[in-house]
Amino acid sequence: MRTSEEYLAALRRMKKNVYIDGKLVERDDPLLRPSLNILSKSFDLVEDPRFKDLLVTRSHLDGRPINRFTHINQSAEDLLKKQELIRKACHLTGGCIQRCMGCDAINALSVITYETDKAHGTDYHRRFTEYLKYFQKEDLTAAMAQTDVKGDRSLRPHQQKDPDLYVRVVERRSDGIVVRGAKNHITMAANADEIICVPTRAMGEEDGDWAVAFSLPADTEGVKLITHVANARPREYLKAPMGELGAADSFVIFDDVFVPEERVFMCGEWEFAGLLAHASGGLFHRHSYCGCKPALTDLVMGSVALTADYQGIANKPHVRSRLAELACVAELVYAAGIAAAVTGEKHPSGTFLPNMIYVNMGRRHAGLNVYKELEILTEIAGGLPATLPFEGDFLNPETGKYLEKYIMRRAGVPAENIHRCFRMLSDMLASSLGGVMAIAGVHGGGSPIMEEILILLTYDFDSKKELVKYLAGIKD
Ligand SMILES: Cc1cc2nc3c(=O)[nH]c(=O)nc-3n(C[C@H](O)[C@H](O)[C@H](O)COP(=O)(O)OP(=O)(O)OC[C@H]3O[C@@H](n4cnc5c(N)ncnc54)[C@H](O)[C@@H]3O)c2cc1C
Repeated sequence: MRTSEEYLAALRRMKKNVYIDGKLVERDDPLLRPSLNILSKSFDLVEDPRFKDLLVTRSHLDGRPINRFTHINQSAEDLLKKQELIRKACHLTGGCIQRCMGCDAINALSVITYETDKAHGTDYHRRFTEYLKYFQKEDLTAAMAQTDVKGDRSLRPHQQKDPDLYVRVVERRSDGIVVRGAKNHITMAANADEIICVPTRAMGEEDGDWAVAFSLPADTEGVKLITHVANARPREYLKAPMGELGAADSFVIFDDVFVPEERVFMCGEWEFAGLLAHASGGLFHRHSYCGCKPALTDLVMGSVALTADYQGIANKPHVRSRLAELACVAELVYAAGIAAAVTGEKHPSGTFLPNMIYVNMGRRHAGLNVYKELEILTEIAGGLPATLPFEGDFLNPETGKYLEKYIMRRAGVPAENIHRCFRMLSDMLASSLGGVMAIAGVHGGGSPIMEEILILLTYDFDSKKELVKYLAGIKD
């Protein structure tokens, strides 16, 4: 397994194709450092006794120890450990560990390549398994590029005025394919070794050229990563783990990019595009969300409890009631992930699938509560997260003495603790990073409507109707 130093060294060797604010930048650019800090944790924690049992597992291919983020889930226990790992790791990284997306993509591909081969006699599962061996051996990180830019949302890919608004195959060669198009919002694409591209929606027969899945090194010729960063506000003297974190999300452009045959996992099998989209975002990724979203709620809960304590209102009934509400959201979402694991099933490919209903209900419940949670924190924190003076004003002897005096709350709590607490709340509630995390909480892994669609597709409403008929004595 790699160390974070080896991971970062590999990124530094990659060709420059990351753009930020008009500039072509290196992958260790200071603006990317905060998001690299997060991904680095997925390597560093391997040696941490609190994480070793969760983060290190064995490859089902050859029994070698591997990082769980490169693992194909083989059992309910694997899913439970992944979920626990994500919740605990996200406590240290402010709510996102970033490495689950690539892991969710490989799990989905392990299932759908198998199904596609069964129906079409293709060779995708063998190709995928070879790729997986390489992925595990090199301990790689991957971004999951699923969300197409999509143009007019009411039109299918082949109906769009510009056919490039969904990633598509523009040329088929004897040794591979050439792809064109763009995916957007792709988390950690600028920090990843690889980009795994999967369809974003179900396709019809005329959408065959858009039914495509593949993987590429993230610096492949023709790939351009136009990247938005949202980092915690830089700190001069009040250093804290929260101040070192950030997010990097990219528009991933495929400008006529060649994908060698061995890295193509779907090409034209349109009937399987929707299944791959559902398996990646709708199944495995939403199960991961049942780990990270409770972690984020834990951080909101802890912030409410700490702030209320510092304010002197810890025992007020409305504070207690809000804490109970937050605990219910966190544990219900986590419980949905546990239920999904223990009622999951083994697919013939060997991959263990979480239960579709429970992951989607868990993810939906989390998404619907994101702004509610922030509203609770805002209510209890008061206005200071929005108006906290800059660090320099605390440092300046002329103004600092006033701020130290007038920031005081409950007696006995040092001014520095109050300052630290509210600086963190500013990052959570009133910064570009806080805003990105909130929007990600709603849309990441698919907008709320997508969860409803999968619930409506798979939930057995008819059996409920039959129950009522029985009790009402109705015989058809
Ligand atoms: C911070 C962040 C990180 C993300 N990371 C990743 C990532 O790593 N990888 C990845 O692949 N994706 C990622 N996403 C993308 C995420 O999955 C999408 O934002 C989400 O699927 C919504 O797509 P959209 O942003 O294009 O919004 P839109 O599709 O424009 O959706 C907006 C609204 O339009 C409505 N709508 C859209 N289409 C239809 C339709 N056909 N019929 C009816 N209503 C419709 C929906 O109600 C939806 O609520 C990320 C998103 C964010 C915000």
